[in-house]
Amino acid sequence: MRNFSQAKRIVIKIGTNTLTQDGGVDAGYVRRIAGQINSLLQTNRQVVTITSGAIGMGANKLALGDKVINTKMRQACAAIGQPLLMAEYRKSFARFSITVAQVLVTAEVLNNRKTYLNLQNSIETLLKLNVVPILNENDSVSTEEIGTAFGDNDRLSALVASKIDADLLIMLSDIDALYDKNPRKFPGAEMIRTVYEITDKIKRSAGGKGSTHGVGGMKTKIEAAMIAANAGCRMVLANGRKKDVIGRIIAGEEIGTIFMPKRKLSNRSRWILNSTTAGVINIDDGAMKAVGSRKSLLPSGIISVRGTFEKGDVVMLNDKAKAVTNFNSTELNSLIGKHTSEIRKLLGSNRRDVIAIPEDIVFLDY
Ligand code: GLU
Repeated sequence: MRNFSQAKRIVIKIGTNTLTQDGGVDAGYVRRIAGQINSLLQTNRQVVTITSGAIGMGANKLALGDKVINTKMRQACAAIGQPLLMAEYRKSFARFSITVAQVLVTAEVLNNRKTYLNLQNSIETLLKLNVVPILNENDSVSTEEIGTAFGDNDRLSALVASKIDADLLIMLSDIDALYDKNPRKFPGAEMIRTVYEITDKIKRSAGGKGSTHGVGGMKTKIEAAMIAANAGCRMVLANGRKKDVIGRIIAGEEIGTIFMPKRKLSNRSRWILNSTTAGVINIDDGAMKAVGSRKSLLPSGIISVRGTFEKGDVVMLNDKAKAVTNFNSTELNSLIGKHTSEIRKLLGSNRRDVIAIPEDIVFLDY
């Protein structure tokens, strides 16, 4: 039995295909969503919406149809489509006297501790004002190539849910649920109602990309579920076109798939876990075992260093954990295999005597 009576802070993500009809935004659908969100607000809940559809809207405005477009065109389409999308939300929510706010983010903003705190502050303030923040990626300024893009709003919505300590993430999509096989290829595929653990089998069964203008597929939904699972946040994946879907999910109806949380990491640990890594420190088995039992990482355990990074960056420890390093990559190269006592001799007496402290090391597996 699903029970969301205590879920106060809810993030709702709406995908491009769910939102559009014949290429354009489906105004009737946005109106119905606004109505459903209004009902949540009436019961003293807070709602943050993540919307896709800017690129699709822009492509529609330029009459590009289903033509696959390059990065520059996607950026242009996002800039054209985003205000059109917001106009629709603004109009629909105004019927319920609800003010909406547009917040556009990039992966850089969420990766950086300072800008992410700014984002957190602005969302908190908007929620206090009973405004519904509507977020999207700032596609016009972020690209995969320069590492500033999420690329998909699935992961973005989970990261936002994690940052604002949401109780529930509702992912509205054009698929009904998670299946044991791809239902579009295998008619006998079975729906999975509850996921307690995201196993390798589940990861493997999640196929590739979704649609032409939307970016997410099942793979990114699973990645989102993993982010939510580490933040103590439940996630429900459901078909956004089901009648009164939000209200029914909140009422506990078994719609779609629920992903149960595994652990609630501290805010700092979540930031480490969800950060893009700048390099890799390869360490030996002994050092891995030591950090696994909450000891600091010492230079003697380092085998090699890959990438160029700064002190304070998040790096991988082999392929198992992420850590904030107290030393940059050049310094680390000079410390490989050295005894702890040599750190200060080599790099100065004001330096830390460990590479990373236990609080700054987070294992990927849970
Ligand atoms: N940010 C993209 C848009 O507004 C959508 C990304 C996605 O489909 O997840 O068009």
